[in-house]
Amino acid sequence: MKFRASYSVLSTWASGDWERAIKQYFKLETFTSPAMEEGKRFHKLWADQITEFKESPTEIGAIKFINPIAEIKKTVSINDWLDLVGVIDCYDKPIIYEWKTGKSSSESYASSPQAGVYGVLATLAGLYVEKAEIHHYDQYLKKSDFSIVWVTDEMLKNSLNWVETLASEMHNYLNENKLYDKYYYVEGRACPTCKSRLVYGHKKDGEQFIKCEANIYNFDTQKAEGCPFVEWPK
Ligand SMILES: [Zn+2]
Repeated sequence: MKFRASYSVLSTWASGDWERAIKQYFKLETFTSPAMEEGKRFHKLWADQITEFKESPTEIGAIKFINPIAEIKKTVSINDWLDLVGVIDCYDKPIIYEWKTGKSSSESYASSPQAGVYGVLATLAGLYVEKAEIHHYDQYLKKSDFSIVWVTDEMLKNSLNWVETLASEMHNYLNENKLYDKYYYVEGRACPTCKSRLVYGHKKDGEQFIKCEANIYNFDTQKAEGCPFVEWPK
């Protein structure tokens, strides 16, 4: 079983709030707030506009794109125990774009490891990246600002190292405390098809389902392979 690292879980882990990171990782609780919900609404609106008009709204730069892809969800394999997952707000070769709402300036995001981690994700997913642009819109003050982060080889190396270090810490912690047994594996049941262990999965809306551990996602073909057993909630 592989650890699925995301920037948000790793940054929570890095902040020292282990309990929250674990709840986020296993989706034991949904962490949301009115500000986060509003951020999601803006992201959806902007993604639709970008797809339709190939241009970003004025709040986030009025950028004229060439061939933008909005909201790209990617999963890449880093090594035999680690996958990296994330959603890139927009990609238009050779730039990745991140949209931010709320009070924190684009600078505060630019100085976090996030742009580098998304650079790693995009690069390993085969998307060529030269820089990340973080566009921030403060919807309360109706003000915008943006920052540019150059994605160099050095930065990719450091970011990959950041991901691997934190992920290995957390993965070891989950193993040592038998938390995969508690929250990932379905207790006391085996797959009726192939006798492998059953695991919990989550749909996009957060609803839980059960699937066979031998159901593996193939990154090359972008398809699920192996045992097809799935049990949807009744
Ligand atoms: Zn099975």
